[in-house]
Amino acid sequence: MNEIHNTYGIYQGKTVILNSRITCPRCGYQQDDLMPIDACVYFYECHQCQAILKPLPGHCCVYCSYGTVACPPIQAGTSCCS
Ligand SMILES: [Zn+2]
Repeated sequence: MNEIHNTYGIYQGKTVILNSRITCPRCGYQQDDLMPIDACVYFYECHQCQAILKPLPGHCCVYCSYGTVACPPIQAGTSCCS
C-alpha cells in the first residue's frame, strides 16, 4: 500500500492539490510534503542527504521540478512569482 491521500485547497477560486512527493535528484529519497498554497518554495533540503534542491531552469519552484504535483499557481493556470 503506497496510496497518497491528497489534501486540497482553494487557490484563486480553483481547487488545487496541496501535497506533492518530492524525489531528491541526488539520492532518490522521496518525501511527501505539503505545499504552501500561495508561495513558491525555491529551496528545499533533502531529508536524507541534506542536498539543497533548487528549481530547474524555467521552473518556479522545487515542486514543479521534483514533485509529483506542480505548485498551486501552476495548477490554477497562473504563473507564479515571476
Ligand atoms: Zn537527497
